[in-house]
Amino acid sequence: MFAYPSGDIHMGHCKNYVIGDVIARYKRKMGFEVLHPFGWDAFGLPAENRAIEVGIHPREWTMKNIQVSDESLKMLGISYDWDREIITCLPSYYKWTQWMFLLMFKRGLAYKKEAYVNWCPGCQTVLANEQVVDGHCYRSNCKSPIERRKLNQWFFRITEYAERLLKDLERLDGWPERVKQMQRNWIGKSEGTSIIFPIKNSDIKIEVFTTRADTIFGVTFISIAPENPVLEDLIKDTPYRDMVKNYVLEASRKSVVERMEKEKDGVFTGAYAINPVMVEKFQYMWRIMSLLNMEVVW
Ligand SMILES: [Zn+2]
Repeated sequence: MFAYPSGDIHMGHCKNYVIGDVIARYKRKMGFEVLHPFGWDAFGLPAENRAIEVGIHPREWTMKNIQVSDESLKMLGISYDWDREIITCLPSYYKWTQWMFLLMFKRGLAYKKEAYVNWCPGCQTVLANEQVVDGHCYRSNCKSPIERRKLNQWFFRITEYAERLLKDLERLDGWPERVKQMQRNWIGKSEGTSIIFPIKNSDIKIEVFTTRADTIFGVTFISIAPENPVLEDLIKDTPYRDMVKNYVLEASRKSVVERMEKEKDGVFTGAYAINPVMVEKFQYMWRIMSLLNMEVVW
């Protein structure tokens, strides 16, 4: 497990790496050829933020931490093969991640699209969901309210492998069912139907994915996410516009976790969706009634 060089190593590192060293030494004594390398996971936000804070280049800060930590690990006497040390922020390492990225790009497995992120206006960086505490930046010297901001980002098309991942789970003998189920949920594949709901008095159509198309007769409302691109058009000419706009702004300040955990709420957009199945049912009934009427007239 590569360490993140955020300073000198601490007791947590010692605990991990000493146990690994015990196993490496034991296996060597047993006559195995043991590869016991070490490396630094040295890219990322902490280095950037630290650099902004103290006004030094992130490279300087990172390499200094690595130097200090290397010395500490060597003093512990851990039997790493130091000739094989890797540092992920150096070109000799990241040329390989770039090479791998290009392979995925050429095969259509890496692509760009816009998506929402947690943006801290104070730190001018993106935060992970876990770093948003009560809608604010987790850094004690910042605590700015977090915005949900749309940014153009890279994605990996891991959905291409959903089927294979699911199938191969069955080949894991001896794994607890609980863990396998967690994996299935994470892969998140579900089979269902897309249903298109037209919006009354407009050209807008909303596509809804459901695993229970049989419940369509009971649909009484549609709720959409505050980020849904259709929303702007939906509220264009309604008196509910300001109310919806306020709600969207409030939602943009909440983290994904907060939004998932809280009681569901929402506001009326002023628009009405038409249940496509019920329309057909009414049209059918209307045709029958017309026929009956004609019969009566005749
Ligand atoms: Zn911040």
